[in-house]
Amino acid sequence: MKALQYRTIGSPPEVVTVPDPEPGPGQVLLKVTAAGVCHSDIAVMEWPAEGFPYELPLTLGHEGVGTVAALGDGVTGLAEGDAVAVYGPWGCGTCAKCAEGKENYCLRADELGIHPPGLGRPGSMAEYLLIDDPRHLVPLDGLDPVAAVPLTDAGLTPYHAIKKSLPKLGPGSTAVVIGTGGLGHVAIQLLRALTSARVIALDVSEDKLRLAREVGAHETVLSDAGAVEAVREITGPIGAQAVFDFVGVAPTVKTAAGVAGVEADVTLVGIGGAPLPVGFGLTPFEVSVSAPYWGSRSELMEVLALARAGAVSVHTETYSLDDAPLAYQRLHDGKVNGRAVILPNG
Ligand SMILES: [Zn+2]
Ligand SMILES: [Zn+2]
Repeated sequence: MKALQYRTIGSPPEVVTVPDPEPGPGQVLLKVTAAGVCHSDIAVMEWPAEGFPYELPLTLGHEGVGTVAALGDGVTGLAEGDAVAVYGPWGCGTCAKCAEGKENYCLRADELGIHPPGLGRPGSMAEYLLIDDPRHLVPLDGLDPVAAVPLTDAGLTPYHAIKKSLPKLGPGSTAVVIGTGGLGHVAIQLLRALTSARVIALDVSEDKLRLAREVGAHETVLSDAGAVEAVREITGPIGAQAVFDFVGVAPTVKTAAGVAGVEADVTLVGIGGAPLPVGFGLTPFEVSVSAPYWGSRSELMEVLALARAGAVSVHTETYSLDDAPLAYQRLHDGKVNGRAVILPNG
């Protein structure tokens, strides 16, 4: 089968031919109908060779949707042809966090060498994808594969972040979204669907801000040196009650801290890795700062339910598997509006 692989540190991904996977006992083989292109893959491909955490070559794609092509021995509850979404952050399935459905926070994944597809394990940018356990699959129940696939990360990750801050986002509150790309433009819709907060969106280009307004942002502000002042002008002295930074680099983290009001939540979702110093006098009183990762299996079900209800729709552009390297190039250049989706069997 054909697959898109990251093969050499620092080189662009390539379309190659690899052996067709076959499901072992307990496993499920999916024919991939859609795979999402995530900015975090670009970050992974920019990591240096030293300390690179995954084995190469690596088939990319941690957002996947497909139809069941074959069942390994002993798998029940699924049938060939079933349309499913893949819950990506695999865990051991039995530790205290996995028992809560929070496999994204599995306590034993590192120790057992368990990785998500596309982030250590072969991912969804291939004609077929091997799934370790049927519990990682959630029925699509009528959702379109292209529309649904970004929800497995670009939907689930902001949903998890926003859900935690819902008690702070009552009437009259303000939520700030920094970075309105793949995850951010879904976050705006989730905030509008789940809260009555005023949503202020920040990004570096007028193009991105136009999409932000289209999907529901009340106000948009260019993310530059004057951003804090511009947001403060809108909110007044109370500031924002929740700030979601989908970039996480030094200037955006500084903006996030600068627009937060007292008792606000500042959530650093982007994997830029810039630190935010927290302490007396450094941040407004009683600000909570967190850096979450992905979301739980039940939250994925909730996000898909929201999509079925029409409350969230992802702006997508589609590519063949052969054109997947181009999709990554366009994303790298900031040219993708919303989410790029690969159709490996299209
Ligand atoms: Zn991602
Ligand atoms: Zn676990």
